Amino acid sequence: MTEATDDRVLALFKESDALLQGHFKLTSGKHSEWYFEKIRLIENPAALEKIVDLLVEKVRRETPDFDYVVSPAYGAIAIGTLAALKLGKRFAFTQRVEEKMAFRSGWSGLDGSRAVIIEDILTTGGSIQEVVACLKERGVSVAGIYVLVDRTAGSVLIEGRPVRSLLALKVEAFEPEACPFCVHNIPLVKPGASDKKA
Ligand SMILES: [Zn+2]
Repeated sequence: MTEATDDRVLALFKESDALLQGHFKLTSGKHSEWYFEKIRLIENPAALEKIVDLLVEKVRRETPDFDYVVSPAYGAIAIGTLAALKLGKRFAFTQRVEEKMAFRSGWSGLDGSRAVIIEDILTTGGSIQEVVACLKERGVSVAGIYVLVDRTAGSVLIEGRPVRSLLALKVEAFEPEACPFCVHNIPLVKPGASDKKA
């Protein structure tokens, strides 16, 4: 994390408890130093707005010319709507219809327009790739792809194009037997475990 923006974004994520640092057991069974609780951002619109303001500044600077912000349901809808409002653009979202990503509603002005895709967190790029496919079907050109957090630290390209992020963070996941935090006997936390009574 070298850019000045990264520090501000990191601080905003931490303030809203959307990014936790420690020793976490992921759903994959692997262990990690970082855990994103992205629902905290949606739950706290004032904190989300501060982060979206930084994203909007970046989009304005880098990609001024487009018509729509498009986000995949559900978490990114709040982010995309807020960004579109501030950018003075229209907004549309894709959603899963029987597992497949699609534009379900009757978005009237989308065909042939130019879109910026906005997603919350980039992990593998799979969802964004699916959004790109949906846009192609509607003849929409992709002007830019933005995420709040890139967990791959810039290593994923979508059709040869970079994904721009506010925060690029290489999140390493360790097998328990190779976990450096286990070695130091740091207590392991399983996020969300407290709401599920076994
Ligand atoms: Zn561990």
